[in-house]
Amino acid sequence: MDRRQSLKWLSGLSAFILPIIAHNPSRAADSGKLQKTKAEWSTLLPAPAYRVLFEDDTERAGSSPLNQEKRDGTFICAACQLPLFDSSAKYESGTGWPSFWQPLPDAIATRTDFKLFYPRTEYHCSRCGGHQGHIFNDGPPPTGKRYCNNGVALQFVPRNEKLPALRG
Ligand SMILES: [Zn+2]
Repeated sequence: MDRRQSLKWLSGLSAFILPIIAHNPSRAADSGKLQKTKAEWSTLLPAPAYRVLFEDDTERAGSSPLNQEKRDGTFICAACQLPLFDSSAKYESGTGWPSFWQPLPDAIATRTDFKLFYPRTEYHCSRCGGHQGHIFNDGPPPTGKRYCNNGVALQFVPRNEKLPALRG
């Protein structure tokens, strides 16, 4: 590659890269992540919700009133109030935890968790990072996934009520 060719290559490359660089800051701002310390969350949330959301606790099976919630509506993060699941994706898994076969788009993020002897897929709210539950592969069609959620980490908003503003 001579100098002229390499300059041409570089300008071609920058034409490709610059829009990506220019685009990224706006994407980061749009994502609207909420960063709070555990100490802040512990003062904002009831203790059982705080322990699940930010200390990775698991609620006792069958303890959540949301197991019986069958109305149309939206399940939102109990910490930052981001909508996480629609009631149309909820089903009765028989596990004693509210279960869904699909989250709302971009609502959750995952990581592998080795707290038990085998790896599990942990998932959390994509906005505040609050722990919600684990994903298993024994769910119903069409996804075959079971999002096994701690009820205390969610709040239910019936369809005819306005969703609350995201927590700032
Ligand atoms: Zn959240």
